[in-house]
Amino acid sequence: MESTELKQDRTIFEKIIDRDIPSDIVFEDDDLIVIKDISPKAPIHLLIIPKKPIKDIASLKADDQAIAGKLLLIAGHLSETIPGAKDFRLIANNGASVGQSVFHLHFHFLAGKAMDGF
Ligand code: AMP
Repeated sequence: MESTELKQDRTIFEKIIDRDIPSDIVFEDDDLIVIKDISPKAPIHLLIIPKKPIKDIASLKADDQAIAGKLLLIAGHLSETIPGAKDFRLIANNGASVGQSVFHLHFHFLAGKAMDGF
């Protein structure tokens, strides 16, 4: 039996993964999905999202080691395959006070323009 409560609790990214709302999908496999950010902060602004609904980096468990590694490996793949994305910045906001607004782990993959160092 499907839980209505669980369905209602889904984040926007789970709805995208479930195809309940549309998105511009760049890459997908069994473990993760890469979509274009709806409000891009750079010419190339992708979101690398695990399909498992992990809240944030701090919520990763030892069992998540493989998926955590995959999130980084796909960034290298995107860099190699997307024209203009050789140099890129990867950002993960962990917590509302530093800007996290969707509480489903994701990396922002930003490229295509010069960016200042931190
Ligand atoms: P954060 O603020 O780090 O949690 O990042 C959430 C990101 O999700 C923001 O950059 C939003 O622009 C992006 N976003 C929100 N809704 C959508 C959507 N439906 N499709 C694509 N990106 C989205």
